[in-house]
Amino acid sequence: MKPTVPKITVSLALTAAGLVVTGIVAVRLAHHPAAPSVPASHSARAASHLPPRAVQPPLPPARLAALRADETGRIPILMYHGIGCPAFRGARYDSQGLNIAPETFRKQLALMYAAHWYPVNMRDVLTSHMEAPAGKTPVVLTFDDARGSQFHYLPDGTIDPNCAVGILEAFHQQHRDWPLRATFYVLPKSAWNPAPFWQPGRETKKLRALVADGFEVANHSTTHRMMTRLSGTELTWEMAECQRYVRDRAPQATMDTMALPGGAAPKNHALWNALLRGHLGNITYRNRCILMAWGGPSRSWADKKFDPDRITRIGAGPGWIERAIKALSTRRIPPYVSDGNPDTIAVPRSEAKFVNPRRLDGAKLVVYNDSAPMKPKVATKKRGPKAGPKTLVAGKTAIRRA
Ligand SMILES: [Zn+2]
Repeated sequence: MKPTVPKITVSLALTAAGLVVTGIVAVRLAHHPAAPSVPASHSARAASHLPPRAVQPPLPPARLAALRADETGRIPILMYHGIGCPAFRGARYDSQGLNIAPETFRKQLALMYAAHWYPVNMRDVLTSHMEAPAGKTPVVLTFDDARGSQFHYLPDGTIDPNCAVGILEAFHQQHRDWPLRATFYVLPKSAWNPAPFWQPGRETKKLRALVADGFEVANHSTTHRMMTRLSGTELTWEMAECQRYVRDRAPQATMDTMALPGGAAPKNHALWNALLRGHLGNITYRNRCILMAWGGPSRSWADKKFDPDRITRIGAGPGWIERAIKALSTRRIPPYVSDGNPDTIAVPRSEAKFVNPRRLDGAKLVVYNDSAPMKPKVATKKRGPKAGPKTLVAGKTAIRRA
């Protein structure tokens, strides 16, 4: 099943001149409160009523245009399963995206880094106060099923350099501006694993290590049964029991986003509420979003069409992630590009109509002019009837292509 990458033609003709800042809107929402993975962040302050820090003023319009900032652009959310899993060696190796070679994963990280991508956790995307450096495109690396090849200790107690966590840690050591961020959708009682990450007795240590390192640990159900066939009671148990299992071992795990097993949602939409919130005994859970398995780069939180119940991902099949990197880098699909300021949502004027004002979460909407300015008419010597207008048109064309 190949993910569909929508063909979107964008013409972002930006110039540094003639830019304006308009449209200041500040709306605070009671639902979907921002609470990112990094406790000291702006939005955690907002959610936990910590003393607010000074609000950063918007960047000058010329700087926003130079960055081509667009915080309504698409965000890649990548879906990984096995990384060099021996069980899949042979014909299935690297096929269907369920298992890819460690070397492939390393190459993909290098491509993402070169494309100015920046890793964040899934829960950090669910706010207009997302923190990413100026000019960067956020990327969420998700790992489903808690497979053994995602996090493996060697007999000497060190982390296997060829498992996903080992590769991410090595990449972080080489690139300190690539933080340890990824979301692990874990599964406590599946036929896939005798215990999460396939080293029974080490699961508690691993879950705690992931949380301590800055990764997100979240809900992929308890048994990986296809949810199309489950009742509301069964769905509630799948969510609540996974949360209980993880929190008993790693109490700091946030457990408030979820990925559908096999990408299969309940057929009856009314049952989706059981995935989003519920309780069983003394366990109360709340998921702020539901991740599908496929679909291409996700819309951003501030986009009118963003649906937290149907977040799309990009599978790791051969070439799929590489193609997404290319499509976003060449702007065939318009990427989310951060302005580096968690207090503002910066968008070019041509994209402003896509902003959902109810999702600004108190951030300022900053719109800058990305249309080509009219070139001032310069008195020129008449050399023939066509000289004047042609010069002007040629000038505009050059600006639009710049
Ligand atoms: Zn799964």
